[in-house]
Amino acid sequence: MEPADTIYTNGKWFPANGSKRRKPMAVIGFIGLGNMGMPMARNLVQSGYLVYGFNRSKKKEEAFEELGGRKAESLSLIAEKADVIMTCLPEPKDVQDVLSELFEMGISGSHIIDFSTVSPALHKEMKEKAAREGVEYLDAPVSGGTAGAEAGTLAIMCGGEESAFEKARPLFDVLGATITHTGPAGSGTKVKLINQYMVGMHTAAVAEALHLADESGIDQKMLYDVLSQSFAQSKIFDRHYPDFIAAKREEPGFALSLLLKDLNLAGEMAGNAEVPLEAGRKVKEMFEDADQQGYGGKDMSAFYQYTSGKHS
Ligand code: NAD
Repeated sequence: MEPADTIYTNGKWFPANGSKRRKPMAVIGFIGLGNMGMPMARNLVQSGYLVYGFNRSKKKEEAFEELGGRKAESLSLIAEKADVIMTCLPEPKDVQDVLSELFEMGISGSHIIDFSTVSPALHKEMKEKAAREGVEYLDAPVSGGTAGAEAGTLAIMCGGEESAFEKARPLFDVLGATITHTGPAGSGTKVKLINQYMVGMHTAAVAEALHLADESGIDQKMLYDVLSQSFAQSKIFDRHYPDFIAAKREEPGFALSLLLKDLNLAGEMAGNAEVPLEAGRKVKEMFEDADQQGYGGKDMSAFYQYTSGKHS
């Protein structure tokens, strides 16, 4: 079947050639095949969607082909062929550059869905540009980490028109377990940035708590076993300690530099809302220092190494 031979009906995309095949079909252009994007795009492939993957470093596109996806070769192919364009890129500038390039080319599809964590203001700008092209725009940041992306159990918080959200829902169902329409464009990102603010605070709490334990003669594993059944339990403690700190694993996961990016975005959001986030300001300064000291490329749980190293 040619990629263009798909129609949207009754909340799903189907082959347009009258085939009896029950599986929903849509052509997806997935841009950003990184720690999150690769397993998300693979899950879409495994659910029967035709997915063109595009990534800055071409090795990732080859790896995606091995998982059953197709190499996009160029952004123009995605502009031309994709019914739905998805982005999962590191920084606001990456999203702005890629989408601006696509808008210049002209987009033939119906939806743009951005899974990256960027700013509500950027989404507002992109949604306005999309509307001028007659394209629906959804900001749909995700939480649940690479494990959630692999398992298709992400929490997806989606801002945008409700009708556009409902049309995209079959795609979200492949990727996530908790899928919420949060309100207008940008609201998904506001929820995500509040989440990231708390992730930063919890990461700092775990790092300092373990460092305090080390210096007080308390065994880390015993501490974790007790606290994971106590009020100090958190998803972040459950993630950082067994899978990274105890396992001496440093590669991301979720890079510390990306968490710093999110704390900066949450700070901007708080500034706009005139909320001081006093405790968060100190934690953000510590993340800036950790980044400058070379921890940015490591998993965010390496904040424990930074905290311990600083005082040893
Ligand atoms: P990543 O750095 O692992 O992946 C990003 C990918 O995008 C890389 O493969 C990179 O080569 C590619 N890329 C960058 N700029 C590009 C461009 N201009 N054109 C094409 N490809 C480009 O990042 P990630 O961890 O997958 O995170 C992506 C987004 O998802 C970020 O905004 C992050 O904050 C968010 N996020 C990450 C996690 C996580 O646990 N890693 C969880 C939730 C949300």
